[in-house]
Amino acid sequence: MSLRTVLGDVNADLIDRILPHEHLLCDFSSVTADRNHIFNNPDFAIRELGYLNEDIAPAAGTQHALVEVTLRDLGRDPEAMRRIAQASGVHVVMGTGWYLEPYYPKRVYNDSAAVLAEEMIEEIQLGVLASDGSRIRAGVIGEIGTHGGTLSPAEERVLRAAARTSNATGAAVTTHAFLYPTGVDQLDILEEEGIDPNRVAIGHVDTFMDHAYLTSLLRRGVYLQFDTCGREHLFPDSLRVEMLARLIDEGWLERLLLSSDRCHMSDLKMRGGLGYSWAIAGFCDLLRAAGIDEAGIDMMTRENPLRLFSGIHDA
Ligand SMILES: [Zn+2]
Repeated sequence: MSLRTVLGDVNADLIDRILPHEHLLCDFSSVTADRNHIFNNPDFAIRELGYLNEDIAPAAGTQHALVEVTLRDLGRDPEAMRRIAQASGVHVVMGTGWYLEPYYPKRVYNDSAAVLAEEMIEEIQLGVLASDGSRIRAGVIGEIGTHGGTLSPAEERVLRAAARTSNATGAAVTTHAFLYPTGVDQLDILEEEGIDPNRVAIGHVDTFMDHAYLTSLLRRGVYLQFDTCGREHLFPDSLRVEMLARLIDEGWLERLLLSSDRCHMSDLKMRGGLGYSWAIAGFCDLLRAAGIDEAGIDMMTRENPLRLFSGIHDA
């Protein structure tokens, strides 16, 4: 098993914890007009990953890894991510694809799913051309998703392209299903394209924390990502812990993922936020207090994301 990172493929034995859904550099402000959403300082990212390593030191000989799900329409910067990975000692996995309406560039409305898939496949297998002539390869498809509760035609086309890319490369698809139970529609489209559900993480499921919704997805074989850990204004962490404990009790441990989706300046420790470590440090302490053992914590913070993201095969 290995992860495809911006510095090359990294063997699983060299990786400690994995944060499956984060941003190091992204900018939602073109749509939201909120200065807090201009989140694009590589030096800040390096400093904040330093805090991650201080809060929860990786085991000797290993490094933590972070899946960076910012796409081009949110300001993805492959060369800066490579620099951040080098300076911080945290492995960074880069995403490919297009985020959601209304962030899409014009081409997403014009190109077919086949053309969109072709470009994603190239970014995973060959990579994005850097200014020094080297290539930086993507290691995950997404985050790709839905604006609101229903898929638009363009969002559906991007999801079809994502499924075809996964089928061709083995890369995982990670979705944005925020505040609505839209993971069902997303999975319908992905399945219509013949995707292996073992390659799918439905994201932000802890923003619509309904047991029937969550188990309907789990029964279809996908991973569920509780990735807004620490965002108490959406749901208190106590409810995330309660739901996770219930799902683990029901036998779903091997399908659960934890992350914190850092994407606002106010999320940073230097600005008084919880920083990148919360999902694998403080939040896991809450899980321990609720009776989840170390094997369970290891499964959610290492084994599950490794299994999900390590399926890429070469052309
Ligand atoms: Zn998202």
